[in-house]
Amino acid sequence: MIYADNAATTKTSPKAIEKMVEVMNNTFGNPSSLYGVGQKAKEELEKSREEVAKVIGANPKEIIFTSGGSEADNQAIISAARLGARKGKKHIISSAFEHHAVLHTLNKLQGEGFEITLLDVHENGLIVPEEVENAIREDTALVTIMFANNEIGTIQPIREIGAICRKKGVLFHTDAVQAIGHVHVNVKEDNIDMLSASSHKFHGPKGVGFLYVKKGIALTNIIEGGAQERGKRAGTENVPGIAGMTVALKEAIEHLDENYESVSAKRDKLIAGLKEIPHCAINGDEKKRLPGNVNFCFEGIEGESLLLLLDDKGIQASSGSACTSGSLDPSHVLLAIGRVHDVAHGSLRLTINEETTDAEIDEIIKSVKEVVEYLRSFSPIWRDLVAGKKEFIL
Ligand SMILES: *Cc1c(COP(=O)(O)O)cnc(C)c1O
Repeated sequence: MIYADNAATTKTSPKAIEKMVEVMNNTFGNPSSLYGVGQKAKEELEKSREEVAKVIGANPKEIIFTSGGSEADNQAIISAARLGARKGKKHIISSAFEHHAVLHTLNKLQGEGFEITLLDVHENGLIVPEEVENAIREDTALVTIMFANNEIGTIQPIREIGAICRKKGVLFHTDAVQAIGHVHVNVKEDNIDMLSASSHKFHGPKGVGFLYVKKGIALTNIIEGGAQERGKRAGTENVPGIAGMTVALKEAIEHLDENYESVSAKRDKLIAGLKEIPHCAINGDEKKRLPGNVNFCFEGIEGESLLLLLDDKGIQASSGSACTSGSLDPSHVLLAIGRVHDVAHGSLRLTINEETTDAEIDEIIKSVKEVVEYLRSFSPIWRDLVAGKKEFIL
């Protein structure tokens, strides 16, 4: 089996698993309890907070542990909206290709009377900082732009966008779920006010993540109850998950530079191999993308059939509509970069990592070539294209 869907989730690191088992066995106390085993859990929790904070250049007091990336996105955006509304600011800027955890939260706020500007994502999958600047108004409460896109992998000019927001006095949040553990992120250098991260995207366990919130920004609770997480996120902390996430994060950071080099080289080899297929195109800028992300459109075929046949060959990949499996809508990300419906339907996302071997890259290239050719051999759309009844787009 070749696992090439690391943007959906990653395999849990054995060291993280070992840590979680150890914590579950020995540090099972409730961190809010005052007796020994509770205080031991509290120590574990606070040690994790310090380590996570250090990785992104934050203060431990600026880290709130959450159930993952979605919750962190929700809390960051709703908090900024509430803060803005108090000052009569009800305008939010984001982009058309954000994760649904961001887009659906923005939809909800729109229903409450907020005005949302979704910036255009250009054909290369990148946001232009000047366009962010031009969209900022007197009543803008928040700019939220993802660090790296989960489908096409493009890495945004976050530092520049952050600097513009600082200059204009507007809060800046970034969904950095795909970036943390894979590329360097430093909230100070990158001018970030709020940041979301999720453990299972960097070999940690699922159901845990964190929100960085710069000192002085008041959070709104999404989950009400006890006074955990400085009163900003109720519920007994997932101590084993948090400790496991921390181990995985430290491991990822320790190997970040070497992984970046080796994974990018394999990505480029994969891209070069797939480009040999006629009438295809890479989605998003070829270089300004995550080291492990490869995303292509192949004209004249259906991404879903491509996935099923690749699965038969033991290759696990994804198409644009992975998050809405069962729905036939093409990916909102591919539409946002200007792909027409027909072309967006024929998409394939392969997300590799440091464990992917060169032999596996060769195997993927060979299999995708075979499957695309096979599917085109009986595709009515392809027949019309070849016969000249329809025009090739790619
Ligand atoms: C996976 C993902 C999320 C959601 O994170 P969960 O921990 O699964 O809730 C949010 N944003 C991006 C960009 C993601 O890739």
